Amino acid sequence: MSLRDTLISQISAQGPMRLDAYISTCLLHPTHGYYTTRTPFGAQGDFVTAPEISQMFGELVGLALAQNWLDQGAPAPFTLAELGPGRGTLMADILRATKAVPGFHDAAQITLMEASPALRALQAEALEGYAPRWIDQIEELPDQATFIVANEFFDALPIRQFVREGTKWRERQVGVQDGALVFGLGPAQPQPAFADRLEDTKDGDLIEDCPAAAPILSTVSTRIASHGGAALIFDYGDWRTLGDTLQAVQDHAPTDPLAAPGCADLTAHVDFEALLRACPPAVPSRITPQGVFLERLGITQRAQSLAQSLTGEQLDDHIAAHRRLTHPQEMGNLFKTFGIVPNGAPMLPGLET
Ligand code: SAH
Repeated sequence: MSLRDTLISQISAQGPMRLDAYISTCLLHPTHGYYTTRTPFGAQGDFVTAPEISQMFGELVGLALAQNWLDQGAPAPFTLAELGPGRGTLMADILRATKAVPGFHDAAQITLMEASPALRALQAEALEGYAPRWIDQIEELPDQATFIVANEFFDALPIRQFVREGTKWRERQVGVQDGALVFGLGPAQPQPAFADRLEDTKDGDLIEDCPAAAPILSTVSTRIASHGGAALIFDYGDWRTLGDTLQAVQDHAPTDPLAAPGCADLTAHVDFEALLRACPPAVPSRITPQGVFLERLGITQRAQSLAQSLTGEQLDDHIAAHRRLTHPQEMGNLFKTFGIVPNGAPMLPGLET
């Protein structure tokens, strides 16, 4: 039975489904989920992420984390963690770039939080020789200094959507009509958690909430505040969500999120305000455009140095990759980054508080 048919019979029997449950099923269903059954990244996949565009991304991220590890007194042992590592490319580039940092590899315990068994297998291949450990839940991070990176992880976490009606909110749900999946709205209910959104929205406006994001970030921040370390988060999104940002992508093209459950990637813009709110007791940097961050870390010099050994098509691809990562009209502005460090510790290079 296809995932679409399973969902239709489940909803027909039990009633409309919350959007976060629908997204979670589409992405992580044990046998039909998008991440569980596919390798969505890279030229053959549905979308390309920064570490898959160029090795320069992971190299600069690795050196930024290692510099901050040195700035915090080189704690050992420490956890070097990634949330949602995809094919393992970013962590592999981080490790290659930091080989020459004295003591860094000896002290690092590589920990990956990954929900998909198929992607775990690819990560194991990419990180052969580094003995990574996988965790299911963020609480499993050991109680020690933790340096952690997440690229396009938070946008993959399921969202809920609410449409304002008067001073109440109607939740967007997935229902069934004439044998097809359709969006509908639940009953109007007060939502005390969104009391502040009554000030900047009007009747009919749609807001989004990502229930899993803040608890994950808050656990990371508590580890960092208590034991030292840093987090570096990259994603695309806005300050305070307004409007429907749920998007489905299949074969590099946008599609209807309800059309083929499990066959398309589903993501939503990250609400950076909600993430920053979850940072205390650790201290976040300012939200910084990815292009600005990478330029501050010297991506142009690195690109020039790599270009010296390239010619023809490879050189053209390399120049395009540099542009894609940094140019304001490509990923440079839409993608943003921020860091988190303990109170009183130096901020990660390229970022400011
Ligand atoms: N960071 C990678 C992949 C981004 S895609 C890159 O930049 O290429 C999102 C990743 O998060 C995938 O590896 C996906 O399987 C993982 N993921 C999604 N939801 C998750 C969850 N709830 N827990 C752990 N991993 C999750």
